[in-house]
Amino acid sequence: MSEVSKVALVTGGSRGIGRAICLKLAAEHGMHVLVNYTSGATAADEVVSIIKENGGSAEVIRFDVADKEAVNAALDAWQTANPDRIIEVIVNNAGITRDGLFMAMSDEDWNAVLNVSLQGFYNITRKLVQPMVRNRHGRIVNVVSVSGVMGNAGQVNYSAAKAAIIGATKALAKEIAKRNVTVNAVAPGFIATDMTKDFDEKEMARMIPMGRFGKPEEVAAAVSFLVSDGAAYITGNVININGGLHC
Ligand code: NAP
Repeated sequence: MSEVSKVALVTGGSRGIGRAICLKLAAEHGMHVLVNYTSGATAADEVVSIIKENGGSAEVIRFDVADKEAVNAALDAWQTANPDRIIEVIVNNAGITRDGLFMAMSDEDWNAVLNVSLQGFYNITRKLVQPMVRNRHGRIVNVVSVSGVMGNAGQVNYSAAKAAIIGATKALAKEIAKRNVTVNAVAPGFIATDMTKDFDEKEMARMIPMGRFGKPEEVAAAVSFLVSDGAAYITGNVININGGLHC
């Protein structure tokens, strides 16, 4: 792996969709991947090992995306250790759910979901966008959700967080388009990961035109395209990856 490989940060890169994105960016683009996680060190280490076994380059970077001080400390430490490199690709993927009917929702569940998804997007992107803009090249991809596009009962907190990021994606795309930094979102439907492992796939698949849950790799493929040179003129978009589950 050459020293000039692009650096990509994938938040929540240790499991599920983020894991698939890490593997894809390393394999298809030869990027040096910063695999972020917050509690599952073993899973994150495994992603790095797989990338290295396949001839790629990666390292883990631990922080809670919701904790601005922790984000800044970790990214500053990385930059100090790598003074000549720029994080040119951000994939804001970390997200959690705390489902429940809105009338019974606790402040804790509301805040937890907003803090990881929306505040996490802000903490990471606000920190890294300036060097990208100065560099006149960058790719930001936000992993949102079908819930943020069409709203989902029982997920008012999650739908609000994801819809807010869609708005931010479109607005930020306009602010920095002239500097060749693109900002897009991918909106998965139901994808088979730990997040959906308790769902009854057979039952829920009835409402999905393709009749099945998606695979993490099917989301990673769209992210891989959005960070490629071929997607240079695409910004402010939301790509739905949902097997036809549109509103
Ligand atoms: P997942 O399997 O539960 O994995 C979540 C990942 O995020 C893990 O790597 C986890 O790391 C990390 N993470 C969680 N909280 C974090 C925090 N505060 N700071 C840093 N990392 C954190 O989830 P997934 O299904 O892959 O979902 C990934 C993204 O896709 C999320 O934004 C989710 O909302 C979105 N999405 C998923 C689906 C779906 O059906 N699965 C559908 C639409 C959208 P640790 O293990 O260290 O906590």
